[in-house]
Amino acid sequence: MENREFWFVVGSQFLYGSEVLETVAARAEKMAAELSKVLPYPLVYKVTAKTNKEITDVVKEANFSDECSGIITWCHTFSPSKMWINGLAALQKPYCHLATQYNKEIPNEEIDMDFMNLNQAAHGDREHGFIGARLRMPRKIIAGYWNDEKVHKRLSDWMKVAVGVAVSKKMCVMRFGDNMREVAVTEGDKVEVQRKLGWQVNTWAVGDLVKEMNAVSDADIDALVAEYLNAYDVNTDNLDAIRYQAKEETAIRKMMEREGCIAFSNTFQDLYGMEQLPGLASQHLMAQGYGYGGEGDWKVSAMTAIMKAMGKNGNGSSAFMEDYTYHLAEGQEYSLGAHMLEVCPSLAADKPRIETHRLGIGMNEKDPARLVFEGKAGKAIVVSLIDMGGRLRLIVQDIECVKPIMPMPNLPVARVMWRAMPDLTTGVECWITAGGAHHTVLSYDVNAEQMCDWARMMDIEFVHISKDTTPEKLEENLLIKDLIWKLK
Ligand code: MN
Repeated sequence: MENREFWFVVGSQFLYGSEVLETVAARAEKMAAELSKVLPYPLVYKVTAKTNKEITDVVKEANFSDECSGIITWCHTFSPSKMWINGLAALQKPYCHLATQYNKEIPNEEIDMDFMNLNQAAHGDREHGFIGARLRMPRKIIAGYWNDEKVHKRLSDWMKVAVGVAVSKKMCVMRFGDNMREVAVTEGDKVEVQRKLGWQVNTWAVGDLVKEMNAVSDADIDALVAEYLNAYDVNTDNLDAIRYQAKEETAIRKMMEREGCIAFSNTFQDLYGMEQLPGLASQHLMAQGYGYGGEGDWKVSAMTAIMKAMGKNGNGSSAFMEDYTYHLAEGQEYSLGAHMLEVCPSLAADKPRIETHRLGIGMNEKDPARLVFEGKAGKAIVVSLIDMGGRLRLIVQDIECVKPIMPMPNLPVARVMWRAMPDLTTGVECWITAGGAHHTVLSYDVNAEQMCDWARMMDIEFVHISKDTTPEKLEENLLIKDLIWKLK
């Protein structure tokens, strides 16, 4: 984990005189200290800015600071916002406007014109908001009393989105082999993705990985197998298969560490020199926060790593997922998601178990070891990033996961069962209308509002399919967005 912090920048002007400005600064410092106790990252009070230069200077510093992951602004008093134009125009970090005030209530007995002059965020934040709108700034606006739990939750969610932006801008994806032959939705413009999202997506030969695997020591394998046996139950006698996965994981991790990659993809069509597709290996790497995409899907791999970083404690319950098959019994309509092997154990309801089974697809000489489990029940989202040709579209659908309604004892992989919003079949129609992939990132702890905020900061199209979506509204919405994004 990198050291991350956010900066609190308060706007004002000299008109108020030094006494008021000192009070504003003292209160801002206190607020930042109090908020730092409840937010996931420290909020550092930087300045009560009164001039164009002070604002430009703090923005320049923020842009070049590795620790600063975003700025939060507030105007306790009135801050004429022409002095903000040069600074905001240069800002390269995520920006949140906290429209709050120091006091929660209007003090009936105490209020007089001095109080009004000091506590005028209601109009200070409007002047500040205008310049954000006028400059078309991608920003998050959070209004409410700064020490309310609801505001804490929203600030905390936004900070995690800003971390998602920082992780995206440094993203390096290691691809082993190309896309699965002929598949369209996993393709995309890597140059455009690097320009927009910052991702470096490059390929390494499977032969290089095999060479790395052959150099893995028995001691390294022993240590990793011990870790597996500690974390998971074992439901196989085939210890060799487990050891083979440990060898694969060690080699993949070493190569990624060497190249600064935090996500990888591979394809079952290209396992040259490998005996097994990495199953348990990929699953255990995902559990540590690495992104993964099957069939060469580098987009879903990078999104998995980003959304994991946006989740709880910087490695949340988010995973590479694939829609497989439906249960269409009336009143019990569900989607069953899984993958050939690679489902992240951060989704598991109970302790996963290691099993070995034959894998018919691809060129597996030996039965790959994998983790088998059921996904948790609860509200979640599925997310798909697609390349529309000339722009990227991020599609998010709200889903409700359930405990799988049947045991499926012969299904040899981890499984998650859910109902898509607004209902399964309408949800499927909407998803297909928007062009969403069969691969997604499924997340229990990142929500649609956060993904909307992330898309705004990255300047890409955002589509949300929720309980209120109808196919007609969605189609109209997509048509309008098509026009807007052609003009942009
Ligand atoms: Mn797949």
